[in-house]
Amino acid sequence: MNTASGSPELIDKFVEFLKSKKLRKTPERFALLEYIATVPGHFTLDMMQQHADESGFHVSRATIYNTVNLLVEARMLRRHDIEGLPTQYELASTPPHSHLICTTCHKLKEVRDKYFIAFMNTRKYNAFNTQYYSHYVFGTCSTCARKRKRNAVTTKKK
Ligand SMILES: [Zn+2]
Ligand SMILES: [Zn+2]
Repeated sequence: MNTASGSPELIDKFVEFLKSKKLRKTPERFALLEYIATVPGHFTLDMMQQHADESGFHVSRATIYNTVNLLVEARMLRRHDIEGLPTQYELASTPPHSHLICTTCHKLKEVRDKYFIAFMNTRKYNAFNTQYYSHYVFGTCSTCARKRKRNAVTTKKK
């Protein structure tokens, strides 16, 4: 749901953050950020490792983990710990959206529910300043529903 066009902004933000933390601006950290900027939607540490390996860019799991955590701390990335799924990350600049999660195959789909977004925009909570929210909807995807139906039919025939 995001494009690579935001990448110079992301780089500036990360440079500022690393400076404020007195951390080194290593090429690995920026190469990983460049990759993140091109991912549409969610990604996992495994996806990052795979991408690095495939592009012949040698980076350790520890560096990936460390970079992602720094980006979360810099509020540039959001982390999603969803039951049954590996930890997911996405750019904090991604527009508001909902996550549909199949509890059978654990597939995650992002949707923009304009009614829900409009509703959330009207919400004001007492003594609380909302920055963002994460919305998860759990259920069964159409593929799993079809499989279940088929299995039910074959069991009946027996
Ligand atoms: Zn499913
Ligand atoms: Zn998302």
